Amino acid sequence: MKTINDFNFENKKALIRVDFNVPLNEALGVTDSTRILAAKKTIIKILEDGGSCVLMSHLGRPNGVEEKYSLKHIVNEVSKILGVKVQFSEGCIGENAQKAVAELEKGELLLLENLRFHKEEKAGDEGFAEELSKLGDIYVNDAFGTAHRAHASTSVIAKYFPENKCFGILLASEIENISKVLTHSEKPVTAIIGGAKVSSKITIIESILDKIDHLIIGGGMAFTFIKAQGGSIGSSLVEDDKQEMALSILKIAEEKNVKVHLPVDAIIADQFSNDAHIKTEAINAIPEGWMGLDVGPKTNDLFSEVILNSKTVLWNGPVGVFELKKFATGTISLGNAIAEATENGTFSLVGGGDSVAAVKQFNLTNKVSYVSTGGGAMLEMLEGKTLPGIQAILD
Ligand code: AMP
Repeated sequence: MKTINDFNFENKKALIRVDFNVPLNEALGVTDSTRILAAKKTIIKILEDGGSCVLMSHLGRPNGVEEKYSLKHIVNEVSKILGVKVQFSEGCIGENAQKAVAELEKGELLLLENLRFHKEEKAGDEGFAEELSKLGDIYVNDAFGTAHRAHASTSVIAKYFPENKCFGILLASEIENISKVLTHSEKPVTAIIGGAKVSSKITIIESILDKIDHLIIGGGMAFTFIKAQGGSIGSSLVEDDKQEMALSILKIAEEKNVKVHLPVDAIIADQFSNDAHIKTEAINAIPEGWMGLDVGPKTNDLFSEVILNSKTVLWNGPVGVFELKKFATGTISLGNAIAEATENGTFSLVGGGDSVAAVKQFNLTNKVSYVSTGGGAMLEMLEGKTLPGIQAILD
């Protein structure tokens, strides 16, 4: 696995695919710069070697050229975080971009305009990839968030750098840490899968059953399992057409000796709001007109015990509506148990948009072993798929 540490970038121009798809507010200011910070090590190493960096990324889902998705809005933030002046190229291919690259001196940084202003990016167009490839001597992929996409800048481009392509520090460490869970995990291994819907997590659950000892299911998706088992769930979130599937997961888990832990109680509410009336109820006895929006105290104890007895923990998805303070307790308790286990030597991997947000919100980022920057990419890797962005570097 070639990384940037296998190259000396002196007098070289590194063309780096980063994931600067950061959230912007209405005034087009960056509200969370985690992804920029995540690429810092790679960029600084190349500049310190005496090279220069051409950064390419997408931002949002523009339909053609849309001003509000221009990467020029993030230039100041990138500059602030990296501590280096950032030049901006209004095109990401073509004469102007090539000229800006040609004029780039060692130690300098150039950010290209949003790749997705060209539909060819997502289409994985060869001509577009070839144009992009003219903008650097060495291709570096450091964008884990898009590694599961076969786009022009994430995978197709690699073939124009048969010898000179490698992983950035972030992408290499994502691969290393996720592989730890996949192949070298110390037992018992526990996967905690939460979030809203069973349907979006089915594939991951099915594919990790061979690798885990315990499966904790929480969040809205738990209610499809409880209803399928005959429980009363009031007006809690449910996917009625997934009940069969839920039962089949439980059966397969049993066959594979995986112990499944479903919530035993819930914090139920009469409306989806912080102003709701709430009470604690058994998970399978929720009255009509009430909905379960968080797991209850008995469940917190149960989940914590499983986590504290695990040597490897994977967490994807909150166990309650943690965005509302009234229903955040379960997710906080879960996060704290993972932090405590980690302190005791457990390897913990957290990934997937909402669990990462929860970890940040509750200040647990430094208390877990690894926080993945890729939601979809992490899940696909755990499902055992080969990600196009990774394969293209390995080929
Ligand atoms: P996902 O993107 O599938 O991981 O789902 C995350 C979302 O699930 C968060 O926005 C949570 O608010 C939501 N969620 C968690 N528990 C529940 C619940 N009991 N009922 C409804 N939504 C929930």
